[in-house]
Amino acid sequence: MINELDMPTVLFLQKTSYIAGAMTLGYLRATSTESRGVGLLAASFVVLAGGSTLAGHAEIHPALYGPLSLINIVLAVLGYCLLGLAFIVISNPERKIKTVFVVIPAAVTLATGLITAFHLNNTYRATTFTFLGCLTMAATAAVVFLDAHREPLPIRKLVAAILAAASLLSLIMGLEFWFDAFPLLDVASGFFLMILSKFVLAIAIVIFISERQHMKIRHLADHDALTGLHNRRFFNANAPKQPLRGDAILYLDIDHFKQLNDRWGHAAGDEVLATMAQAVQSILPQSALLARHGGEEFIVFLPAKAGDALLHAERIRQAVAELRYPTLGTEMTVTTSIGIARTVQEYSELSDLCREADRALYLAKAAGRNRVCDAEFNSAPENYRRSA
Ligand code: GH3
Ligand code: MG
Ligand code: MG
Repeated sequence: MINELDMPTVLFLQKTSYIAGAMTLGYLRATSTESRGVGLLAASFVVLAGGSTLAGHAEIHPALYGPLSLINIVLAVLGYCLLGLAFIVISNPERKIKTVFVVIPAAVTLATGLITAFHLNNTYRATTFTFLGCLTMAATAAVVFLDAHREPLPIRKLVAAILAAASLLSLIMGLEFWFDAFPLLDVASGFFLMILSKFVLAIAIVIFISERQHMKIRHLADHDALTGLHNRRFFNANAPKQPLRGDAILYLDIDHFKQLNDRWGHAAGDEVLATMAQAVQSILPQSALLARHGGEEFIVFLPAKAGDALLHAERIRQAVAELRYPTLGTEMTVTTSIGIARTVQEYSELSDLCREADRALYLAKAAGRNRVCDAEFNSAPENYRRSA
């Protein structure tokens, strides 16, 4: 069916694909908060649509063939450079790039055209367009793929694959234009696949941005903004409802935190919470699940395989007592009390274990703070005790 289409129809469809893509991306740019680079991509589609329109006009108006075909190739170069830049920015919005450099290849193409008139030769124009497309899309496919290590969105692989396929398509078409032979693809089929790739790319970018927003929202829903730890909601959803024998819960509560706030101010209190949270996280084994339970209280789920819960608790207690807060002065120290409960029976409930740990924490507070208490023994063995 593709072979039945004539070139003006194919060019018309190509223009339509760019405009539809630009409108989709423009809407995304206007409505999304995570859209850095999407505006550039929409602009690249508009520029490519302009170039494609001029290519049609150049064929219809022989008298204007020279200037129109020059503007056509300049716009095509600008469009592809914008497209490459857009994907690089979308892939990692924190990347610092000087956008103005994108006009340099277009300016060089314009100057070369004015000096050599290469644009009057259809083959030169077509191969410049296709080889540049091949290079920009291959480079951006690599960037999008490699950025997965900092932001592993599932859609990345698909976007990189579409860009790589579009790059290969441009390479095949470039070679065929250059050698004036079409053993693999006729021109109309090539253009058809290019049109298709632009539609698919526009849709893939909409999915890309939506996946990124979803990941951010998930992160916000699962984490505490001040300490960066998981929050209580995440803990409740992810700690096993029926812990196994030997699994433990640790409740941590900072001692006299209200006094600290009153004396040093809430900002200092916040800094202590954030520093302490990171310190506790760093000494816990990977298998532990730590969360901010609320206020100045933290909860840890320690699976039996993580080893002796009492030893972990004592390590935490000691590390917190030794922490220093450089911005708050060297004399400032904070202590914490810890309650522990371990599963001793099969089929225990997490809620029962938490209640036991809470009771042990209460005992640790009552016994003078800065200590670890084990619910099973009603207090920790003597060598784990510390006076406040
Ligand atoms: P105890 O040793 O008995 O635990 O005494 P405490 O002062 O630590 O306990 P209390 O429950 O009386 O006070 C807890 C304080 O923690 C009160 C509250 O203002 C403070 N707090 C809770 N959340 C935050 C927070 O996010 N930032 C700061 N700066 N303070 C907080
Ligand atoms: Mg408390
Ligand atoms: Mg407290």
